Amino acid sequence: MTITTTPIHALAERMSWARRTTRLDIDSTTSINDGATPMIFNDITAKGHENVLFCHDKATGLRAIIAVHNTTLGNALGGMRRWHYANEEEMIYDVLRLSEGMTYKAAAADLPMGGAKTVIWKDSPDAQPTQAEAVAMAKFVDRLGGLYIAAEDVGVTTQYIDWMVPVTDHVMGGTSAEQGGDPSPYTAAGVVNGMRAGIRHAGLGDTFKDLTIAVQGLGAVGWKVCQAVHAEGGNLLVADIRDDILNKAVTEFGATVVGVDEIVTAKSDVFCPCALGAVIGNGNIEKLQTKIIAGGANNVLIDPIEDGALLKNKGVIYAPDFVINGGGLIRLAGLYSGFSPDEIDKRVANIEHAIFEILETTESGTTHDAAIRYAQKRLDAGHPLSATNSNA
Ligand code: NAD
Repeated sequence: MTITTTPIHALAERMSWARRTTRLDIDSTTSINDGATPMIFNDITAKGHENVLFCHDKATGLRAIIAVHNTTLGNALGGMRRWHYANEEEMIYDVLRLSEGMTYKAAAADLPMGGAKTVIWKDSPDAQPTQAEAVAMAKFVDRLGGLYIAAEDVGVTTQYIDWMVPVTDHVMGGTSAEQGGDPSPYTAAGVVNGMRAGIRHAGLGDTFKDLTIAVQGLGAVGWKVCQAVHAEGGNLLVADIRDDILNKAVTEFGATVVGVDEIVTAKSDVFCPCALGAVIGNGNIEKLQTKIIAGGANNVLIDPIEDGALLKNKGVIYAPDFVINGGGLIRLAGLYSGFSPDEIDKRVANIEHAIFEILETTESGTTHDAAIRYAQKRLDAGHPLSATNSNA
């Protein structure tokens, strides 16, 4: 999407101008892009958003945007990103893009959930969250009556969620297991299941035994992936910016440490990105020496269309990120929806089948395209499609 939106202050001016000049005899077929209508409608129309709520709390200075993209499958869960944006256009762009992504992520996970996201403005990179801000945010979420269910994202801590919990029933995560707690074990389990689908599809067998898995980032997700690979007799190449965790991986798993700049192109059966997004792109695809890319990070490909095609041409199998890393969402959305722990586990296990089906698709295009079609099928049906839908 090109950013054609106007800064909020200018939008406000145009909106008040539009109100002053509104004529009752305007033809209802008049284009919304008539110069008197804020351009933000162009963006939300293009992406199909249902609601975009601009929130301001005078007492705390909180400024946030809640974007509900699509509720075809149910009310919409999505994280809150607290970030120091360069300007308002960036903030709007981010919330529209991320909320759209959540619709596909929830649909691909076969959940009775729609897609949404919140962005919270940080005045400076170091601006610390306060309880008063979190409470103000919770009040905005609560007013939506469950249409939007908030969760953690970059810049929002478990403490922030815990501050919100007493104010609204529509927030998940935090420190209490009842609210979902830390979803990373479920994300990691989904990644391991998706990696298994990848090796089956590649004809490398059913287990990680004797395979080489390169894990980038040994945090909450990456570490648990290493544990699973090691338990099955796989060999680990690992990279992180923290020496302590690398030393631990050497001691506990007999892992081989690789430089942070080398791990992406190291020789491996599976490259498992669990640190940052945008690690695979035009510049490094020709140097890749892996057979499969399957990891927990979001937005692994710099350009899913162009890079997806380059990977396909090179014969590297790519397990789409928004499907393989859906385990944490399944946990939080499942608990919110009243799923039993067994049902949640079944759905996380189902990530293996979902990734396998996507990789085995014989239709033209990339695996990213196949994953979008996989999610779109659920959106077109208007309900989840899996056999494990008993609670949905
Ligand atoms: P984390 O912060 O716990 O771990 C990230 C790790 O990456 C840290 O150990 C950090 O030191 C390391 N790292 C940072 N920069 C690096 C670099 N340049 N090279 C190598 N290592 C580097 O995060 P996490 O919760 O494990 O999440 C990992 C990724 O998965 C993130 O991209 C996150 O957005 C995504 N994700 C996480 C979840 C979840 O449930 N935690 C869900 C979906 C997606």
